Amino acid sequence: MSKKVFIKTYGCQMNVYDSNRMANVLKPHGYEMSESSDDADLVILNTCHIREKAAEKVYSEIGRLKKNKVAKAAEGNDMFIAIAGCVAQAEGAEMMKRAPAVDMVLGPQTYHRLPEMLKEAQAQRDAGRNSSRVMDTEFPVDTKFDHLPEESDFDNPAQFLTIQEGCDKFCAFCVVPYTRGAEYSRSVADVISEAERMAAKGVVEITLLGQNVNAYHGAEEQGEAAGLAALIKAVAAVDGISRIRYTTSHPRDMDDELINVHRDVDACMPYLHLPVQSGSDKILAAMNRQHTREDYFATIDKLRAARPDLALSGDFIVGFPGETDQDFEDTLDLVRRVKYAQAYSFKYSPRPGTPASTIEEQVPEEVKSARLARLQDLLEQHQQEFNDASVGMEMDILLEREGKQAGQLIGRSPYLQAVHVDLQTADIALDADRDTPYSGYMDKLVRVKIVEAGQRSLKGELVGTVPQP
Ligand code: SAM
Ligand code: SF4
Repeated sequence: MSKKVFIKTYGCQMNVYDSNRMANVLKPHGYEMSESSDDADLVILNTCHIREKAAEKVYSEIGRLKKNKVAKAAEGNDMFIAIAGCVAQAEGAEMMKRAPAVDMVLGPQTYHRLPEMLKEAQAQRDAGRNSSRVMDTEFPVDTKFDHLPEESDFDNPAQFLTIQEGCDKFCAFCVVPYTRGAEYSRSVADVISEAERMAAKGVVEITLLGQNVNAYHGAEEQGEAAGLAALIKAVAAVDGISRIRYTTSHPRDMDDELINVHRDVDACMPYLHLPVQSGSDKILAAMNRQHTREDYFATIDKLRAARPDLALSGDFIVGFPGETDQDFEDTLDLVRRVKYAQAYSFKYSPRPGTPASTIEEQVPEEVKSARLARLQDLLEQHQQEFNDASVGMEMDILLEREGKQAGQLIGRSPYLQAVHVDLQTADIALDADRDTPYSGYMDKLVRVKIVEAGQRSLKGELVGTVPQP
């Protein structure tokens, strides 16, 4: 009999990728995905430890799930609760003690072991325990990538593909090197065969993922290591893949070869997420970012020379320990000079076990909040300006999902803007399906004229079709 699994994903795109792979690992064992935890036999919380209150959020979710579990047990049915991801890696043992409703704890590197862990949990349950106690947060030598079953179907023409994990940079604020471990790159052959499987199932756009994606150095067949630039060229050669993105990059690893990919490889989309975190040299040094603001400007200049329409995105942390008003002004100045198309910004939150968490000179909460509000005002203004400049332009949009209004589909522009396209009024038929003319456009690349710009999305009108890859 088929069983149901509900996976709740917190945090970054890497967790989205991991959640999809966990679903794949479980499928041959009879588990179908469920939209809700209510009817699930197994609930997995795939957690993120990057910012504050991560563990608290997980505990309160466990509290809610526990009620389901008790109700199901009263009806004689089993329900298992598993905690996966970075909170599990960092605080799993503690979690098992504090939350007895949790049956399993698995770190980001061990989810291929889920079926075995479930068996063990079931055996413990059969032996009369209310909850099982199964935990695996190792960093095994052979990686999860060596054990993953082939993906089933993809629900979206744009997919993530993890090529690199972990990090050796040790920024003073960041838990990633501790929760995801040392840098590891998949081999070129492994990545290409996954890209080929995706293309064969209708995927058109791939975002190559890594905590530090441009530090990629995967083994090639000849035994040499390929950098990200070579890998992007190899993925671009896969039949059917017409759009490639990559994230997240570190400014120090943005070499000339990779910069030139933005000029030379058509499939490489004109969008780059290149976090700088701060515009102050003093804070950059304290963060152990290992580059200066001038280094960053030099990289941006080269990128813009290679691809003048490049949309830039970034991450910022305000209120890092020791950040003065002047340091913060330096960040605003950097933002004014770079003018991001969009960006993410956060208040610094001390993460247990990281060097910055023990610095005494912490910035008061109200100062952090005021700085964040000022920074976000500026970033939003720039985002609106970038979007306004798109009005009147024609772009290829990959339509990925239905909008809220009938006949509306939503897709992404080359610059990663969300574009709402009203297809009910469009008179160009891509498919012969006359009853629902717009459904034929789903998952397709279409030519769209941008007619309106908001801060977070654009509106466009269909003007034509594009040859499908
Ligand atoms: N590897 C990327 C890099 O080098 O920038 C980003 C990794 S991290 C998963 C994503 C973002 O979370 C970071 O760029 C940073 O802005 C933010 N972040 C990480 N640790 C943080 C902390 N302790 N407090 C606030 N924001 C944090
Ligand atoms: Fe964290 Fe990124 Fe720094 Fe690595 S490079 S420690 S992932 S912020």
